[in-house]
Formats: sequence, structure tokens, C-alpha cells
Amino acid sequence: MTKLETMIDQAGKIVILGHVNPDGDCVGSCLAVYNYIKEWDSSKTVTVRLERLPSKFSYLSGFDAIETEAGEETYDLCICLDSSDEERLGDFKSCFDRSAKTICIDHHITNRGYAQENVIDGHASSACEVVYGQLDESRISKRVAECIYTGIIHDTGVFKYSNTSRKTMEIAGRMMEKGIDFGTIIDGSFYKKTYMQSQILGRALLESITFLDGRCIFSVVRKKDMDFYGVEKSDLDGIVDQLRVIDGIECAIFLYETGIHQFKVSLRSNSIVDVSRIAAYFGGGGHVRAAGCTMSGSVHDVVNNLSAHIAEQLEREKANA
Ligand code: 5GP
Ligand code: MN
Repeated sequence: MTKLETMIDQAGKIVILGHVNPDGDCVGSCLAVYNYIKEWDSSKTVTVRLERLPSKFSYLSGFDAIETEAGEETYDLCICLDSSDEERLGDFKSCFDRSAKTICIDHHITNRGYAQENVIDGHASSACEVVYGQLDESRISKRVAECIYTGIIHDTGVFKYSNTSRKTMEIAGRMMEKGIDFGTIIDGSFYKKTYMQSQILGRALLESITFLDGRCIFSVVRKKDMDFYGVEKSDLDGIVDQLRVIDGIECAIFLYETGIHQFKVSLRSNSIVDVSRIAAYFGGGGHVRAAGCTMSGSVHDVVNNLSAHIAEQLEREKANA
């Protein structure tokens, strides 16, 4: 048995947690483990606790059973997925503290292993890829496969980011063999946008500004505009990736206002800039090509501060070339 299976085997009451602002890999990995446990041994009590998720993920089995409050219960085992540190558990950190045993399964290079047991692979495309390695393939059902496939496509941008490996493709292939409707999963959870989501994407692209000789681009969405279009933060998913694929761009920055002089920052790069270093400098984290943080100040201050770090990395690269 793997580390995860051994811990599940010894536990009766289990809680599964992900990270704040849950994404496809977060919900995919949480529900993969949830469904796997339920199908393996229905006598166990298992609860997934995550912040409210967009309904586009409602095709995942177990979605309706997700609890959005931390509660006050105690657990034999807490399984943390896709969360690089304890703070990323958000309000659900108290569930972690109320658990006798803890295990963390993740793929963030910045993860130092905050649980009692840790399975971290910084080279894996997604938490789902690491989860796959902890499960018995013969017990992976179509329902579990749908969850794992969802996590992989979201964290690889449908198999195109540099974190996609041969192993990633092989796992995805095995999930396809479980009979999943992969085309519908990709379109429904990754590409499909509501009319309002498309409108705000269009506006963000229209108002974007390039800098550093056209190698960087940023765009910002204000709280008042989010209210006007009736969108929430999850409706802004994908905007930064659209900025990243603009011809000539090395680094894309997308900001949305979260408070007075406070912005959530998403950073993406194509081949040179290590955005995880920049995000970590400003108190966030992530991966080499995709990272994020929260910053304070005016838009001008935030972009200027980020720009200095990007310029430094670009200049170092030029000097080494
Ligand atoms: P996104 O820009 O899509 O929100 O996040 C990109 C990547 O950066 C994800 O892997 C996410 O986990 C990580 N990330 C985003 N924001 C933060 C943050 O505030 N702190 C940390 N540690 N990681 C973040
Ligand atoms: Mn992930």
C-alpha cells in the first residue's frame, strides 16, 4: 500500500482540504481522493471542505457533498491537496489542527512539507498527477478518473504548459481508458465561458497595456467593474493566459481589486522569467511559469514593483546570452 492508502486504511473519520480560491486541480484532486475512499470502503466518514466553487465543476461526482464551512469536528486524518503551505488552507486550517494525523499531497516546489507525512513532487504537472501515484490503478473508477483528468487539464492548460510530461500524457491516457467523456470535460470546464465572463475578458484585453519594450503586459479589473458585470473572482479565470499568448509577450500580469489599494496578482511567463521567485518575494508562491500573490498600493505601484523584478531577470538573461 502507498503512504496515502496506509493512512486512509487506519482512519475512520477523514477530512479532505485544498487551497483558497480553489481551481480545477484543487477540486479534482480533492474529489478524486473522496470518491476513491467512498468506493473503497463505504464505512468510512469522509468530508471535503473547500471554499464555494464555480458550478462548471458540478459534473464531478461528490461536488454537491462539498462543505463550505470549516465546522468544529475532529478527525482521525486530514488529507491536504494542492496546498503549498498551511496558510493556503485558509479558514480550513482549523480542520487540519483538529486532526490526529495529517498528510499533504502536492506539486509546488515551494512546499516544505508542513504535514506529518508529505508526498511532494515539484516536477509533477498537477496535484492530481501526484494523487494518481498514490492510488491503486485497478481501483480507479470512471468517477475518480474524471476528477484526475480535470485536475491535469486545468494545471497544464490542456497539455500545453511546460509542466506537461510524457508521464502526464500517459496518466491522462489511462484516465481516458476508464471511459471518461474527455471532450466534454475540456470544453465544459476549461474553455466554455458565460456571456458575462466573455465580456469582462474582452474588456480586460482591450484595456491591457504593454511595457518593457512590448515584452510584458498587464491588465486590471476593478471591483466596481466586477459589480457592474455581476462577476466574481472565478469568472476572471483564463484572462491572464489570454494575455500570455499575445505575440512577443514574455510575461503577463493580471490584477483584480480585492480591497482598498489591494490586488490579487496572477503572473505568467513563457520561457525566461521565473515568476514563482517574484511571487514568493511578494509573499505568494506558485510555479516557474504560473504564480500569484496579493499586493498593496495603487495599480501603478504594484505594476512598477513587479516590473523591476521582471526587468532584472530579463537583463540577467540578456547578459548571459
Ligand atoms: P493563479 O494565478 O492562477 O491564481 O495561480 C497560479 C499559481 O500560483 C497556482 O499554482 C497557485 O497555487 C499559486 N498562487 C496563486 N496565488 C498565490 C498566493 O497568494 N500564494 C501562494 N503561495 N501561491 C499562490
Ligand atoms: Mn495544482
